[in-house]
Amino acid sequence: MQAALDTLRHVFGYDAFRGEQGDIVHHVAGGGDALVLMPTGGGKSLCYQLPALLRQGTAIVVSPLIALMQDQVEALRQLGVRAAFLNSSLDAGTAQAVERDFASGALDLLYVAPERLLTPRFLSLLDEARIALFAIDEAHCVSQWGHDFRPEYRQLTLLHERWPEVPRIALTATADAPTRREIVERLALEDARQFVSSFDRPNITYTVVAKADSKRQLLDFLAEKRGQSGIVYCLSRRKVEQIAGDLAAKGVVALPYHAGLDAAVRAEHQRRFLREDGIVMVATIAFGMGIDKPDVRFVAHLDLPKSLEGYYQETGRAGRDGDPADAWMAYGLGDAVLLQKMIEESESGEERKRLERRKLDALIGYCESTGCRRQSLLAYFGEAHPGACGRCDNCIEPPRSWDGTVAAQKALSCVYRTGQRFGAAHVIDVLRGADTQKVRQFDHDRLSVYGVGEDLDAKQWRSVMRQLVAGGWLQVDVEGHGALRLTSTSADVLKGNATLTLRAEAERAPRTRRGRTPTTGEPATDLPSDAQARFESLRLWRASVAREQNVPAYVIFHDATLRQIALAEPSDLDALAHIQGVGATKLERYGRDVLDALATA
Ligand code: ADP
Ligand code: ZN
Repeated sequence: MQAALDTLRHVFGYDAFRGEQGDIVHHVAGGGDALVLMPTGGGKSLCYQLPALLRQGTAIVVSPLIALMQDQVEALRQLGVRAAFLNSSLDAGTAQAVERDFASGALDLLYVAPERLLTPRFLSLLDEARIALFAIDEAHCVSQWGHDFRPEYRQLTLLHERWPEVPRIALTATADAPTRREIVERLALEDARQFVSSFDRPNITYTVVAKADSKRQLLDFLAEKRGQSGIVYCLSRRKVEQIAGDLAAKGVVALPYHAGLDAAVRAEHQRRFLREDGIVMVATIAFGMGIDKPDVRFVAHLDLPKSLEGYYQETGRAGRDGDPADAWMAYGLGDAVLLQKMIEESESGEERKRLERRKLDALIGYCESTGCRRQSLLAYFGEAHPGACGRCDNCIEPPRSWDGTVAAQKALSCVYRTGQRFGAAHVIDVLRGADTQKVRQFDHDRLSVYGVGEDLDAKQWRSVMRQLVAGGWLQVDVEGHGALRLTSTSADVLKGNATLTLRAEAERAPRTRRGRTPTTGEPATDLPSDAQARFESLRLWRASVAREQNVPAYVIFHDATLRQIALAEPSDLDALAHIQGVGATKLERYGRDVLDALATA
């Protein structure tokens, strides 16, 4: 174990393992198989990188995204680790050189795409080399239930059959039990030890706002994020283009990303997002898997994700470096109706549809929840959390609730009197006594419910409708174009046998947090001003080094490391060596420059 700690300090510059890392490293270095479930940002890479250094031979890392291998390998090289990758992006000459290095035992780690790994040529190469271990990253790609399904992953059992004595470690941030079972089965990991970490991401603040003018709401949210990197998720390609354009017009550096874009454009946008500071990626869920940029400061959802698993994965891309980050979502009834429609109209079998409906319900429940978001999110993954996290909208500003029984009665009877054939917008018009073409056409101004709801505004009614649907007192008839219908429990409310406590919408949508510096183009940190000046000087130095080497800035040093340096103000190399994230190689390469940058700040 001492050897592991020594290598952790010497190579990675860290003093201690995080969570289960130590046990995992020990187990795999000792030759055991492992299945590691750890949230994004939990520190999965170290779990195979360290055993790779402790064991004889080369570790083979199977990774599904070739576009990202280069940065992963670059980060290792910066640490002085002998790493390389093999994928279709390399020309023949370079690939051969990598293969030669591998065969001669000159590599600690070799990253390969699954399709390359499975070629007869590569398999015979493996026969000749000494293999330290197999790491299967993003192991949930074996699951056909997720959107990351990769058929080649299913053939990876071959590794176990051909090299039964080589330890395997499969890693994923996907927590749900069915996916976990599928990974075990498909990768033949029945005998592997499972390491399940807490899935809490304490540095992420969760916020859900009721959709009103979502573009405006997004801009308000982004106003306090100037200069920070983030991702804005939308459901459709068209909306991605539109929002990216709108943001750009407002001076935000925003780039679109979706499967309909030319591959070269996609690659370029991804490259810029990874390498430049402060880019906002507006994307469909086609973007994000394996993006290990540590300083993504926010993930915003303008449309509902497909499920809480999806939401958790997508928001998990924020704040991998452990610094504060935001997960923000705007949610409206229309989203829920649209997703429900997509489920009903899909070709899936009834069993699958039932599963998806349940997942959608859970997601809506999360959006509507008045309790601690972290608690309900973790509960969904089977993890208990005491609540009152202090880092979600409901904890920071507990929602007011009100007795919505009478409003609910009005809403339900309006749905009933208009014939259960209309969507929320028209029902609200009738309740509010609006004079619209549709109201006149159907003589709805003659109904007894016409105008009985003038005491609430349209926004409040939308909130009531949403909560009635979420609570199962109303259902959306997807075949009837989103018409609202009563359910078996509606009668209880109508007859006055049930009282309803509803959540009141927050009056002011954007919430500016205390202690945040105003937007200056630099990410907000809570450093004292002299340390802040040193931090900025270090960032400038880092940017120039990164440009020179054509690598992402974070592979030189993470923000967190620079911040510690700025605070500790080390006066010599020995003192600098004690900072977390400063290993021997980086100390040697950059130590002097860092001290200089400090001196000139
Ligand atoms: P994951 O792959 O699980 O999303 P990473 O392996 O990218 O997470 O690690 C997330 C961040 O945590 C990285 O910036 C990494 O350098 C840092 N990290 C990992 N292990 C430790 C540790 N033991 N001490 C300090 N920082 C760590
Ligand atoms: Zn909370």
